[in-house]
Amino acid sequence: MGSLYLSRLSLEERNELVKKLWDSQNHKCFICGEEIDLDIHPVDIDHIIPLKMGGKDDPSNFALTHHSCNRSKQDANLRIARILHKFSKISEKTLEKKGTSPNLSDIFAEYGGAKYKLRFKIDGNLIKFSFPEIGDNNIYKYPIFEDKLSGFKYFFGVFPIEYLHHDERINPRTIGKNISKLIKEFFSKRPQLHITLGYILTEEGSSEIKVFDGQHKAAAQVLLGVKELPVRVFVDPDLDVLLTTNTNAGTTLRQVAFDKSVQRHLGSALYIERVERYKKERGLAEDDYSFSEADLVKYFKGESREMKRYILDSIRDWITHNPENKLKDFIDFGGRAKEKPLSYSTIEKTFYSFFIYRDALQTPINYRLEEGENPRELEKQQILRLTNIIAEEIYIGRFDPDIGTYRIENRIQKGENIPEPHLVAYRMSREEIIYNWLKYIGQIIKNYFIMQGKPIDENKLFQYSFPEPLWERIRIFVKNLRDLPIWVNKELSSTVFGGKQNYEYWQTIFETGKTPQGFQVLLHPINLMDMIKE
Ligand SMILES: [Zn+2]
Repeated sequence: MGSLYLSRLSLEERNELVKKLWDSQNHKCFICGEEIDLDIHPVDIDHIIPLKMGGKDDPSNFALTHHSCNRSKQDANLRIARILHKFSKISEKTLEKKGTSPNLSDIFAEYGGAKYKLRFKIDGNLIKFSFPEIGDNNIYKYPIFEDKLSGFKYFFGVFPIEYLHHDERINPRTIGKNISKLIKEFFSKRPQLHITLGYILTEEGSSEIKVFDGQHKAAAQVLLGVKELPVRVFVDPDLDVLLTTNTNAGTTLRQVAFDKSVQRHLGSALYIERVERYKKERGLAEDDYSFSEADLVKYFKGESREMKRYILDSIRDWITHNPENKLKDFIDFGGRAKEKPLSYSTIEKTFYSFFIYRDALQTPINYRLEEGENPRELEKQQILRLTNIIAEEIYIGRFDPDIGTYRIENRIQKGENIPEPHLVAYRMSREEIIYNWLKYIGQIIKNYFIMQGKPIDENKLFQYSFPEPLWERIRIFVKNLRDLPIWVNKELSSTVFGGKQNYEYWQTIFETGKTPQGFQVLLHPINLMDMIKE
């Protein structure tokens, strides 16, 4: 790119340089590491360190790449581009294999880590170990310390990655593209400030060192070619406490910018944990679920508030990450929605807060499970079905991720042509709007049961089995609502849809057809009876 040196070469001299670089790189592309066939592949000569960053314009700073690799490189510095390319490859592989982004164990697997258990001996306040599997028979001795308040024992050490393993249960997070920032930081020789945390279990005299915190930093180091990492290793910690601590780090303590839906996942892991513990401590059979949520809350009474949260988390988690959830593709889990119309926090404040029963149930966990009438099971299944109806009628094939959500109303005002179905999906997704219309769905359901003469507890609406005609009504309502002219009215872009309004503003519009300032925006107030008719 912009090389004076290269521009002065004759074709012959250039070919000679290509050949020389090709040989010195063992016929491999500098970025992807795959073979270059000079007869088949178009190639680029590029600066390894860009001129802008002080790289030299001469052969010592040149590398040969596939033309396409150079075109799609993820950083101007080719050494960083090479690492980011490698990470993309690992991501693709993991996605294919597990359907998720990679975590630290996938990175370890790629670089020869996570192979062995550490054999050790504890002698008073000293731990001794060695790494014979990799030919290092030195005996390392480190002091064991005690955490003053928790009483947890730990030591510090530097460990070859062959002995480090990722703990997926305590740390279920995956590694995303944002790791590139860490890679660049470490590449520019800034030190790692916080060290990785791990633990060993001494029961068997040898143990994997399980890493449960600091996986992004560890992964970035490994991707940069680091073969050993400093770790603070806990000795026989109470795993339950670590799991809870890691959850609290994301909730009460807010030390970590935790992805909210991962928090939920942790919550549900903790729920399962408590259920297992309850069965064990009460001597119940493996398949005995004759106790209720309320029994659990009572049993773990010191943490009854957490226990209730774990129960809700497990329901939210089941719905959110269900492979059949069609709305999932339209939810942004990172916090601030830029490309996707719904944020996870909106889903929580609407769908989950309206439709999941908040208190612990008194009925046994396996109550009417076999008849398909278990209240929690029904609740989850039916919320999922509602979610899918909404996805089908409003988002799928209508919301275009390439157009995204960024400053849509401004773009309309500037005359950009936003397709109507996309605009409808975008506008209906705004929290203050969906908050209102989703409530109406609750009302339609309630009404249906009342008309049938069926007594219901409206807080447990989704725990009653919905008959097909009711589902039909819900779908028609969603369609009718979607087809209201207000969603495609571009004139309203700077007024009604201009700034962020509150819930009541839209409640007034739906109830009266007018804004609180008296400006008519709907033909009529919403009439739910009309809206459930074709
Ligand atoms: Zn290449």
